[in-house]
Amino acid sequence: MKSKATLKIGSEKIKIGDTKDIHLKISETYTGVPIQIPIRVYRAKEPGPTVFITAAVHGDELTGVGIIRELFSNPLTLIKGTLICIPVVNIFGFENHSRYLPDRRDLNRCFPGTESGTLGSRLSYHLFEEVIKKCDFGIDLHSAASCRTNFPQIRANFNISKAQKLGFAFGCELVINNKGHENSLRERASAENCPTILYEAGETLKFEPGVVDLGIRGVKNILKHLNMIKGDPLLPLYQTEINKSKWIRSNNGGILRFSVHPGDLVKKDDVIAECENLFFQKAETINAPFDGIVLGMTTLPAVKPGEPICHIGIPSVSMEEIRRKIKKEPETLHRKVQTQLKTNIKLHKKK
Ligand SMILES: [Zn+2]
Repeated sequence: MKSKATLKIGSEKIKIGDTKDIHLKISETYTGVPIQIPIRVYRAKEPGPTVFITAAVHGDELTGVGIIRELFSNPLTLIKGTLICIPVVNIFGFENHSRYLPDRRDLNRCFPGTESGTLGSRLSYHLFEEVIKKCDFGIDLHSAASCRTNFPQIRANFNISKAQKLGFAFGCELVINNKGHENSLRERASAENCPTILYEAGETLKFEPGVVDLGIRGVKNILKHLNMIKGDPLLPLYQTEINKSKWIRSNNGGILRFSVHPGDLVKKDDVIAECENLFFQKAETINAPFDGIVLGMTTLPAVKPGEPICHIGIPSVSMEEIRRKIKKEPETLHRKVQTQLKTNIKLHKKK
């Protein structure tokens, strides 16, 4: 464990047993005024792991901001270790409702950064040096990119066994095995002996209640898994890894009428969507190429040839087993999430 009796972030010292709000300087405005990112640190009296939770690395992905704010409004009683919460990492994008930095770079390709690099590289450097390198585990909270929605899922690098364990401990049904983009926060933190997972859920520019609730449950599950808070983890009815997935694309320009929603189980050849022109003349029927689970979808009903429509993943667990487990499902958080995500996509009405 990397924890020390006194944790130092920027010029602030946080002693064991303290909770402290910090404003870490990461840049300056055109007028030379400091730009800071807000950080809250909770430290238990007993030593233990140091965990970071980051949100809005992509400035328009607010899901994680909602999750961390909920944690602030109902503070956890840490029995061990240190929790470092950073509700807004990409402060530039957040202020402009944008995924990107002002120079159009993606902050999540700038890690670990350098002291003398670009705007994003310097921000990354400060965050990495002051926080990430002092942590044992990380949770990075995201949503789908603009005009898409994701069924809540965890991404983790299964080559790192602690990341794989953390990925399942969060408690999403779907755990996707991938290394993460080169120079992303997750990829670089994991390479620095800080296994980090990524929560991908819902849409940009929203606090979606079910998606936020599932994220809070997930963060608490991780802290329970690490014995940092009391209680047993709350797990879903099934969990599966996803090792292979494919974006299904339109071959025509037109308007989509969807037949599936995020989280749906589909069979090979099931209709995903009909693509039609404005006068309802059909251009094509888009079918599932294999059995799988709808991981994510476009929310934009207008498409051009080659544009993505639906992201389908192949589970490691058999589809029959999943169907059996969810068949008699009571009103659970899973159902709440799925019902709410449905409202983002107009379903094709069968005549
Ligand atoms: Zn993102």
